Amino acid sequence: MLHSPLLIPPCATFWDEVAKAIFESDLLAAERLVRPRDFSAIRVVVPTFMHAHQLAAAMARHQKCAFIPPRITTLTALLSQQVPTAQVTSDRERLMVLYSALRQQAWLKKLFTARRNTDLLPLAQTLLALCDELSQALLPELRDGSDAADERWDKALEQLSPIARHVLSDEAKLVWSVWKSQLGADDANLVRLTQMMSLAKQAEAPLIWITPLELDAFEATFLHAYGTRQTVLPIMLDWHATSFDSAYAAAWPALIEADATLPLAQEFGDIVPPAGLFISAAKNLEDEATRGAQTIIQWIQAGKSRIGVIAQDRVVARRMRALLERAQIFVTDETGWKLSTTRAAAAVAAWFDVIVGRAETIALLDFLKSPFVFSGTAEKSAQVMTIEMLLRRANVSGGWAAAGEALSSAPAARNLVSRLAQQAALFSPARQTLAQWTAMTNGALEATEMRDVLIKDAAGEQVLALFEAIANDCRTVQQTFSFAEWRAFVNLQFETTTFIPPQVDNRVVMLPLNGARFRTFDAVLMVGADGDHFPSQLNETLFFANAVRRELGLATRESRQRQQLRDFAELLHANSMVVVSWQAYKDGEPNRSSPWIERLQLVLERAGGAEIPDHSIHMEHRDLNTQITSMPMPSAPQLLPDKLSASGYNSLVACPYQFFATRMLRLSGLDELSDVPEKRDYGDWLHQILKLYHDQVQEQKIPLSERASVLEAVTEKIFAAELAKTGAALGYYTRWQKTMTAYLSWANERESQGWHFMIGEDKLTKTLSWESGQITLHGRIDRIDENDAGERAVLDYKTKNQGSLKSKFKQLEDHQLAFYGMLTEASSAFYVALEPTKGKTGDAEAPNYGEWQHQLRVQIIANMRGIADGKPLPASGIESICQYCEVRGLCRKGAW
Ligand code: SF4
Repeated sequence: MLHSPLLIPPCATFWDEVAKAIFESDLLAAERLVRPRDFSAIRVVVPTFMHAHQLAAAMARHQKCAFIPPRITTLTALLSQQVPTAQVTSDRERLMVLYSALRQQAWLKKLFTARRNTDLLPLAQTLLALCDELSQALLPELRDGSDAADERWDKALEQLSPIARHVLSDEAKLVWSVWKSQLGADDANLVRLTQMMSLAKQAEAPLIWITPLELDAFEATFLHAYGTRQTVLPIMLDWHATSFDSAYAAAWPALIEADATLPLAQEFGDIVPPAGLFISAAKNLEDEATRGAQTIIQWIQAGKSRIGVIAQDRVVARRMRALLERAQIFVTDETGWKLSTTRAAAAVAAWFDVIVGRAETIALLDFLKSPFVFSGTAEKSAQVMTIEMLLRRANVSGGWAAAGEALSSAPAARNLVSRLAQQAALFSPARQTLAQWTAMTNGALEATEMRDVLIKDAAGEQVLALFEAIANDCRTVQQTFSFAEWRAFVNLQFETTTFIPPQVDNRVVMLPLNGARFRTFDAVLMVGADGDHFPSQLNETLFFANAVRRELGLATRESRQRQQLRDFAELLHANSMVVVSWQAYKDGEPNRSSPWIERLQLVLERAGGAEIPDHSIHMEHRDLNTQITSMPMPSAPQLLPDKLSASGYNSLVACPYQFFATRMLRLSGLDELSDVPEKRDYGDWLHQILKLYHDQVQEQKIPLSERASVLEAVTEKIFAAELAKTGAALGYYTRWQKTMTAYLSWANERESQGWHFMIGEDKLTKTLSWESGQITLHGRIDRIDENDAGERAVLDYKTKNQGSLKSKFKQLEDHQLAFYGMLTEASSAFYVALEPTKGKTGDAEAPNYGEWQHQLRVQIIANMRGIADGKPLPASGIESICQYCEVRGLCRKGAW
């Protein structure tokens, strides 16, 4: 017999009330179901095993003497003891089989404006979730063989206006036909219902059914069938107005049982702030997290050992958790995180990115830097650093071949990358079955040494288990999928799988609001109780309007919000101390608390009572010593370099600290990767072209009339290679073609003045000595010319016009030409403009070249002596230098 539910008000002593009901119920005694102290004849079904422990403890508390407890279990555990009626199709298999059917339908892609096949994967998942909902609501009726389900469906559609029905007809038909197609004997819902009904048929013990929720269609059908053979007593929460605090009842009428008469305002009695509820309005995110962490610390110091944190705002919760870890309080997270947010899953996703991007440099470096990759390889960090430096230096944006070429000078690093290239090549087949993709992915995890590390990591273990589950669940799926589809499927699995970190400390438990049902804590903190997060934003369900859902018996927006409100009310009744916090300001704008809190405050205000008290926390004051930072000015005579380049000396003049960091400590920033060639690349190409051109003219004594074609041929050779890498080089190619004629005119004119090209791109060194020391000057000179009198001239190519080069000599900040003069003993020096003005190019000669060299020699010696004598090297760069400085983070300019 199925009895009317026994209703117990939401309270801290819920389980004691249940225990009392079991011990004292006349109902059960009258039917002689309970022998003295032996309750083993009774079966009790609770929502989770945690509740089973709570009930057992409550019974032990209530019954002071020995007794045999009832058989307390969960429905899932009961069903697992049943012989399965059919092999259930796993959710993963259902998803991919449905997806492979959907991708064949061109009209569907049009309907949902899907650009790629993989855009239909989330749609397939939504459809399956909807099918499960429909099964939950309608299967019991379908089982009877009646047409009730179809009738309900037609009736539900009638809820829509004719226009809406017309618009939605394609979508509605799709949902209905997909649902019907899913209803095979292997459908998980059908198997579950069949098992429940077979359990009901074998009912051999009275049943107490405890649930915090209203019965769904499956449960109602099951209990009804069970009740035809045995006594069934449902125990549920009492949501009549008199069962809970009058302030809550007045503020939240939606809580009250639908068939109960809503009391008149005066019937609520005195409305006063409920005991144990506090609010905490924080100034911002950091303030909310800090106040939350401090609250928990104080509670623990006060002896509370079971603290619940309801994380409505996960960002605040994450920050608070980090703050608590500093205080050695490790939060047990029952909510868990998406597996996709773990480093383990990110490493696998990064591998897929490398394959898709064909070794796109940033993706490749991200993958290699993962601690899960090549962990057993000797000196992995050094090799990855080498790879990064070489790829950046060569400005390789991606491609296995280009990466291999850039790494040719580092065999070990190159080997590492070629191992990846071999693995990536295995993923090239157009289409594979899921079993084949899984095997291939597992192979890559082995080859990249990821498996050994994943297995030692809690999230990594779950990632490996996921691939095992995919292999197992989808072994019979015969459809084939592209790599893009495999990647989208795995990423979706990472998104929808929850990772629950291992528990190490049970004092503070973070949980969702519905996880607190039938539980009590010493104190509870809810973070994120603002309008954006509480009630939680519900995903708008595709396909079905609320009216249709209501008619079909599916959960509606209102029913979900009502359940959330009931969960909140239960939390408030079941715990003696609840602090509700939110950010009162966001981005400087006022941010309102949850409408439920506001309604409660309004009701209290109208009743003339006190307000909900603020939660006050005591923040320890700490006096910190101010540390005044000042400009760094190290002295390091022991680091005096033995070599000096022109750019090195320029750095010393511009900022001694920059010289100290880059030339003495030898620190350097990483080269920036750029998708498009930059001006420095253009400069490099022109240097190569002009070196090849002048070498050829000099060696083959090319007459003037043929030189233009030689320059063109050399230009084609260099630019053809660059254009093959990127079309973005075309702009520079055109730019140089416009300059070539002007350059040739200038070069021929110079030759007619008696100057001949002597050598290009020449590396030179020279030792500069003084009484107490010496230094080697070194540099690569773009070009040295010689005239018939044996005089030499240094030439430096610049991709600038002649006017701007002449003005360079006025500032005299760049000592490059004088420096080269010291290396070559040239009598003159020129900048050569490779940017025409009005169709002409030209040069700019360094004035007073001999004097400039002499002064530079004196300055270099004085500076090197100073460093050797311990002279400080201040960070005295000016802003125009600092803005491009690689070591700004080291000198911390701006912090002093
Ligand atoms: S940021 Fe400026 S002051 Fe600091 S090291 Fe660089 S150039 Fe010098």
